[in-house]
Amino acid sequence: MASNIQAIRGMHDILPEHTAQWFAVEKVIREVLGAYAYQEIRLPILEKTELFKRSIGEVTDIVEKEMYTFEDRNGESLTLRPEGTAGCLRACLEHGLLHNQVLRLWYQGPMFRHERPQKGRYRQFYQLGVETYGMEGPDIDAEIILLTHRLWQRLGIREKVELQINSLGTIDERLRYREKLVEYFSQYLEQLDEDSQRRLHSNPLRILDTKNPAMQAIVSDAPALLDYLGAESKAHLQAITEMLDTLGVAYRINPRLVRGLDYYCNTVFEWVTTELGSQGTICAGGRYDGLIAQLGGKPNYAIGFALGMERLLALVEMVSVIQADPVAEIYVIRVGVAAECAGMRLAEQIRSTLPGLKVMVNCGGGSFKSQFKRADKSEAKYALILGEDEVKQGVVAIKSLRTEAEQQILNFDAALAFLAAQFYPSSG
Ligand code: ATP
Ligand code: MG
Repeated sequence: MASNIQAIRGMHDILPEHTAQWFAVEKVIREVLGAYAYQEIRLPILEKTELFKRSIGEVTDIVEKEMYTFEDRNGESLTLRPEGTAGCLRACLEHGLLHNQVLRLWYQGPMFRHERPQKGRYRQFYQLGVETYGMEGPDIDAEIILLTHRLWQRLGIREKVELQINSLGTIDERLRYREKLVEYFSQYLEQLDEDSQRRLHSNPLRILDTKNPAMQAIVSDAPALLDYLGAESKAHLQAITEMLDTLGVAYRINPRLVRGLDYYCNTVFEWVTTELGSQGTICAGGRYDGLIAQLGGKPNYAIGFALGMERLLALVEMVSVIQADPVAEIYVIRVGVAAECAGMRLAEQIRSTLPGLKVMVNCGGGSFKSQFKRADKSEAKYALILGEDEVKQGVVAIKSLRTEAEQQILNFDAALAFLAAQFYPSSG
């Protein structure tokens, strides 16, 4: 026999037993985003490779080594999206959505990065992304933080996450700081790990983001970007923190917080947890005003964040496991040719009159006994039973599968009324 084909490493299936939990979390996310008047946008998973090279930056982890890039049949280089910001902005520019207006958008879906798979780190993972355009801040910066804060409250994980915030300043301030940083790290060249040595001249800020414990001492003594910010950048950050103070959202200024991608400026923030090992960032975002012009648009403002759904789900599962709904609520047992037809018709009638109910019709035949076994397994509350006799008399037998209640014989209309009364007792 041929061996079974397995999923690609780092790309996981979400099985039916877990989809209820995902659905419940997604429902809360939708509600919260709606409450802030954010609109959904749906974007392609594949984009031209150039889009990511131009936006994320050539010397970032993603572009250097994590992208799934291939040539399509026309010889064009395409990439499975490693993040959503670039595609979202591409779409808005392409459709002229940024012209003289502000936008508050969100999207959700799979992202792809060729990383070393481990708990909380996958090659296909799901992100919720939020992007806003046309607002200078700092009020919108505070708003997207408030939105995430409300999300944690609604999901019951507020106590498990900490907000860290920092400012990357303007491009000029960052360049000045960058020089100081290179100077500082150059003194410790021997002690820098391989990644950091490579980044020293290409992307020295990324060294601050190292997850290597051996590097922590050098990193924590490095000059802090906050000391190189001009008055305006400082005021922007302060205005945000004042709003957060007023609204009762706790935060910590983390002067070492940088983001892995090139396009950030000014506000950056992360929500981190200590409960998921080293994959502790569940949500990360920041301002990226410069990216719009970089992708060919008129200079404009932009701020957003991305949230790792697997990490969020892992946290939510620590506080509450949502029980999956029963697979079915009603199971239709039918034996004999005439009963098969009548059963299908009855099921359709139930779906028309009681559209909220889950009706599973026994397909594939079987004796009464084997069909009862399947009915039991389906988790249904009631079995509707049709054999030759029932069909002749125009009735159906209803049996409770979870209580000792006696079996009833009813005509179809009475059966529908009975089910309505059982499942929707107050609306009768
Ligand atoms: P990390 O430092 O953990 O690699 P990142 O800076 O690369 O994260 P972003 O690009 O900011 O991550 O993505 C936003 C969020 O998406 C992260 O905070 C995380 O929750 C999630 N995320 C990123 N990469 C992965 C992955 N490979 N698997 C699962 N979730 C991920
Ligand atoms: Mg990463």
